[in-house]
Amino acid sequence: MVPRLLTLLLLFSLLVAAQTPPAAVVLKIPPAAQAGPGFNAEAATNAYLATVTPSAKARSDAYFEGGYWLILWDFLYEAAILALLLAMGWSARLRDMAERITRRKPLVTWLYWAGFSIALFVLGFPLAVYEGFLREGQYGLMNQSFGGWFGDQAKMLGINIVLGGLLVMALFGIVRRLPKTWHLWGAGVTIAFQALIILIFPVFLAPMFNKYTPLEDARIREPILRLARQNGIQASEVYEVDASRQSKRVSANVSGIMGTERITLNDNLLNRCSPQGIMSTMGHEMGHYVLNHGYKMLAFLTILVAIFFGVLRWGLSWSLGRWGGRWGIREVGDPAVLPLAFLILSVLFFVGTPAMNTLVRVQEFEADVFGLNTARQPDGEAEVDLLLGEYRKMDPTPLEEFIFFDHPSGRTRIYTAMRWKAENQCLGDAVNPCGR
Ligand SMILES: [Zn+2]
Repeated sequence: MVPRLLTLLLLFSLLVAAQTPPAAVVLKIPPAAQAGPGFNAEAATNAYLATVTPSAKARSDAYFEGGYWLILWDFLYEAAILALLLAMGWSARLRDMAERITRRKPLVTWLYWAGFSIALFVLGFPLAVYEGFLREGQYGLMNQSFGGWFGDQAKMLGINIVLGGLLVMALFGIVRRLPKTWHLWGAGVTIAFQALIILIFPVFLAPMFNKYTPLEDARIREPILRLARQNGIQASEVYEVDASRQSKRVSANVSGIMGTERITLNDNLLNRCSPQGIMSTMGHEMGHYVLNHGYKMLAFLTILVAIFFGVLRWGLSWSLGRWGGRWGIREVGDPAVLPLAFLILSVLFFVGTPAMNTLVRVQEFEADVFGLNTARQPDGEAEVDLLLGEYRKMDPTPLEEFIFFDHPSGRTRIYTAMRWKAENQCLGDAVNPCGR
């Protein structure tokens, strides 16, 4: 649960990097997408989609559709590990070991947490290697050696043991002191912890994995800062991150909260996109910022966490009443209950996948529209969407998009851009743009 929460948070901080000034890529617009009297958004969208070769499309579809199944396998695999820890009595034994080392309850909780995190890491390792390393390599998205990848995983485990440990100690303290209302206080503490993680992510956590440097190339930085000022963003720096250390993916993000906010471009994007594509992406990221997506997401998570804690409280007492004795779990305040809590929460996360995806996707669409209006680069948007299409299915069915997509599909995004282009061609009129 906490690793999942962390992933969610990192994801929500919209993970996005830095290098030597790249030679500018030239924007390519297919003939049917060129501006002119006969411009048609549908035809232009199709022309852009047609630039993807059949083999590239097949590979991207296979990669992304495989991801649908991985949601299921991840859930089942994790559930099996957790069930094993409970049914074999390993969870109770781990708690006994922690109690032999110390009598102090918070320390017992932390020792249990460390052991539990390591057990999940070790038992989950085969699937993690396949999913995070081998499969990424098979699809040509990986830039890291096994050693480098493993190093990052080990770092994440360490962060999880330390930071997750603090949360878990606080939560068990609450459960033991406030047995009737712990789910409410627990939800509050969890949200405060999430806000703290978002706050420290750009400053302390992200630099543990990548190098963040201020964007040096004035040809790219100045137009971005101009766009920022136009949108009331008091930014003096844009950051680039060496995301190519890990992968070939193109990305950008806004991270941070309450003063640690920053916009970051990854080096893959800088090296592979035209200036129009970069400006389009920056318009999108500024949309997240101006529309307060970070705070809105936190508000939504507050509701979600409150519901999850309510279900957790009910689920724990129900299952402990039935199997607590057999599993050697004494009560809700016993750290040995953690695999059971994770099991309940993983069911909720699994069932909640479409809701979570839809929430994020709606924000992403808002940011797209904001970006088109401010950066005015519909073709740059299409260029970036095609690059994102290397790892995200371009043209799914609406149901697929609803359930599995945390961003609009490539077709939706390109069509939105081309419709904007069709309806704003008059902006090119130097004398009286759109009659304004
Ligand atoms: Zn976004």
